[in-house]
Amino acid sequence: MVRHYREMMVMSNRLDDGTWFTEVCEEGGSAFSLQIREKLHDETSDYQHIEIYSTSHYGNLMVIDGFVMLTALDNFLYHEMMAHPALFAHPDPRRVVIIGGGDCGTLREVLRHSSVEQVTQVEIDERVTRLSERYFPELCESNGDPRVRFHFGDGIRWMKDTAAGSIDVIIVDSTDPIGPAKGLFTEAFYRDCHLALGDAGIVVQQSESPLYHYDSIIRPMHTAMRGAGFGDSVSLQFPQPCYPSGWWTATMAGKGDIRRFREADACHKSFATRYYNADIHQAALAQPPFFDID
Ligand code: SAM
Repeated sequence: MVRHYREMMVMSNRLDDGTWFTEVCEEGGSAFSLQIREKLHDETSDYQHIEIYSTSHYGNLMVIDGFVMLTALDNFLYHEMMAHPALFAHPDPRRVVIIGGGDCGTLREVLRHSSVEQVTQVEIDERVTRLSERYFPELCESNGDPRVRFHFGDGIRWMKDTAAGSIDVIIVDSTDPIGPAKGLFTEAFYRDCHLALGDAGIVVQQSESPLYHYDSIIRPMHTAMRGAGFGDSVSLQFPQPCYPSGWWTATMAGKGDIRRFREADACHKSFATRYYNADIHQAALAQPPFFDID
């Protein structure tokens, strides 16, 4: 069934004449297109179909199974919002785990925090990282940092085997909930995350579009995270032009108070960002009335 759905999506994303790449979003009845200069790479790894394009205005584009993963132009929005709110919400983030995130953009943002002593990135498909090194070198510029450990394997399995209380922040930077990522959106996975996290531990996960996926993904994610034992969860909003609807979320759940953050540290952070700052953090926590979780 999943396979049939994927094949259908890949086919429907090929309506063009080769000068445009189009991702059709069936559930939104919409599509997003980028003008293509040339296809730079095409391969089917052990896990997925990976394509890299050069575009006219968005720089390089990575596509997995027909879905846009990132572009050089706008990935900073997503990667900064996946990393900095959770890291500034934790009182002392030292041990961080990224599940997925093979393009290494989130990893680069995490490494900007001097409190972080160790980051383990658990990506199922090593080819995504190798291709990112080649086509998105700017995202991989910190991959040689001695605090980083790369583990190429299934994040669901890895989390199950992880020692209790051994992580401060878990960032789930995964593909959509199909294929190998499906199990990353379940209460069983969040239970393993809860166990692996120490006091005040936080998990944050990309949670798709509030416009198209509130009922199908965002609300069920809150229910599953709270069902797994997290006392609170909140969806952070931010723009992401290359994803369906252009409006995206990261949902954060924690053992402590995740609605507050180290605001003074965020105001006086020692590194530059292009989107994230303390005001954006505060604003991203604002909840529209249709976010009916609380
Ligand atoms: N920002 C992107 C998005 O939301 O579309 C996600 C980027 S990143 C490339 C997603 C990664 O998650 C992929 O490289 C994929 O291989 C990885 N992934 C999917 N399922 C996984 C699993 N079970 N364990 C570890 N990594 C996984």
